[in-house]
Amino acid sequence: EDEPGSKKDRLLMENLPHLVLEGVILASYAIGASIAYLYINKEYKAANDSMTQALAEAKESSYWGKKILGGDFSLDILLVSAPSNYVAGEDSAAVEVIEGKEPLPRQKPPFPATAGLFGKPTAVNNVETLANLAPIIAKGAKWYRSFGTPESPGTMIFSLNDEVNQPGIYELPFGTPLRLLIEECGGGLKEDKAMKAILPGGPSSAFLLPDQIDVSLDHNSLRAAGSSIGCGVVRTVPEGNCIVEEVLRIADFFAAESCGQCPACRMETNTLAAMLKKVQQGQGGQPLLEQFSKVIGFNKGKGFCNLINMPGPPIESALRLFRSDFESHLANGRCPQN
Ligand code: SF4
Repeated sequence: EDEPGSKKDRLLMENLPHLVLEGVILASYAIGASIAYLYINKEYKAANDSMTQALAEAKESSYWGKKILGGDFSLDILLVSAPSNYVAGEDSAAVEVIEGKEPLPRQKPPFPATAGLFGKPTAVNNVETLANLAPIIAKGAKWYRSFGTPESPGTMIFSLNDEVNQPGIYELPFGTPLRLLIEECGGGLKEDKAMKAILPGGPSSAFLLPDQIDVSLDHNSLRAAGSSIGCGVVRTVPEGNCIVEEVLRIADFFAAESCGQCPACRMETNTLAAMLKKVQQGQGGQPLLEQFSKVIGFNKGKGFCNLINMPGPPIESALRLFRSDFESHLANGRCPQN
């Protein structure tokens, strides 16, 4: 969990470690795994401490270890310290780290479910998924499906950051209007600022306009609106912020986080960041704006992992929806409001 602004997994581990652990044990039992690894960012000290304590308590009660609760199922659980760079959270990179190697995504196929850790079939799940398992087993799939939409059943944890009055994480049923999250949960933008744009699914999602605030928070609705639900980090951009600066920050993030092993990704992420820097400084003119979709389209899908595809949606949507911000930079070498 290293998307900018996302802290749901960390907070789950810090505050509900046994819920996460129960999910790990249930998932292991379901697939007949004999060993599970908790792969936790080494920077998350409180989460590591909390999970370590929960592991000890659960072992004491025979919820994991040899012959769980006197039955036939045995499970060993190991905690592995994860590097804190973004790509280390990719499933095959996690497998590499657990094998004692560098956090580099593998070429796929094969996917970890076919040939993962030490060549064996490996299920890699994130914390939020695992935290859902115990309540579903206890109350039934029908209960879980009573939340959300038929295509996106259940709930999701959304993150709101400092642009709103009440930042935090909020668990909501899929299908909840985005407006409810921003206005009722988040209390609206600070200082009653007007909204210029919304990034509904983290830095790799496409921008929405404020008049799309009534879109439902579920996979199909956000896809139909031209964006994606991503990791549930909702960023609201206040009026007065420059979208060129917003996408430059995003492009710099992906350029810095590319592990660099795929030439196309290395070239694409660095080129996009450099092109946006030029636009920011008023260089390149309209022909440069036309190059963005070519660079993005040419490199699409040419990496070992999905990072290569991530800068595309925010940049292309920004160019489509906020063209005047780009043109203002090209004409004056500065943000439109300055
Ligand atoms: S696509 Fe980018 S981040 Fe992913 S493995 Fe290739 S170089 Fe690394």
